[in-house]
Amino acid sequence: MAEDNGGVLDFVGVGFGPSNLALAVAVQEHNERCARAVRAEFVEAKPEFGWHTGMLIPGATMQISFLKDLVTQRNPQSEFTFLNYLTERGRLTEFINYKTFFPTRLEFHDYLQWAAAKVDASVRYGSRVTAVREVDGVFEVDVDGAAAGRLRARNVVIAGGLSPQLPPG
Ligand SMILES: Cc1cc2nc3c(=O)[nH]c(=O)nc-3n(C[C@H](O)[C@H](O)[C@H](O)COP(=O)(O)OP(=O)(O)OC[C@H]3O[C@@H](n4cnc5c(N)ncnc54)[C@H](O)[C@@H]3O)c2cc1C
Repeated sequence: MAEDNGGVLDFVGVGFGPSNLALAVAVQEHNERCARAVRAEFVEAKPEFGWHTGMLIPGATMQISFLKDLVTQRNPQSEFTFLNYLTERGRLTEFINYKTFFPTRLEFHDYLQWAAAKVDASVRYGSRVTAVREVDGVFEVDVDGAAAGRLRARNVVIAGGLSPQLPPG
């Protein structure tokens, strides 16, 4: 975990759902080929990675093609593609024979979990960003929870997702 009391990060990512997970993969791939590494830290309120876990209804499928995964449109040769996930799980042939572009949400959740465990990123799980303020051109990000503290960064990437709106009853 990067220090939170001295250095200024390139960015802090608020939330670690699919949006910032995809960004973390892009940062890793950038850092592997560039001399100057991008320094980033992510803060996620959940205790571990999860993608709308209350809605993983058996049989429910994705609304988008598996090709719209975390990386394919940016880098089809990435090790983080859905096809590489299937290969590592030993499910590539089975998925092809299934003749669909739309995996189940359960399988796509497993793909996202696999990528979150594999990516080289610093994530403060079980922690919530409670405030962001700009001081002399640097953002101060207050973090509450399991990894509480204050992060300082030149940029903040907010990917906190949506909040469910439930009618009364
Ligand atoms: C049931 C359902 C099915 C869907 N199916 C599809 C689909 O098939 N295809 C598709 O393209 N899209 C689908 N979506 C749309 C969905 O928005 C995206 O799939 C995706 O979840 C967006 O990712 P995200 O990272 O932007 O947001 P989220 O997945 O919502 O992640 C945001 C994360 O930020 C965290 N967070 C929020 N505030 C803070 C804070 N202050 N501090 C720390 N952490 C914080 C949350 O805990 C959460 O983990 C679906 C959405 C739902 C609800």
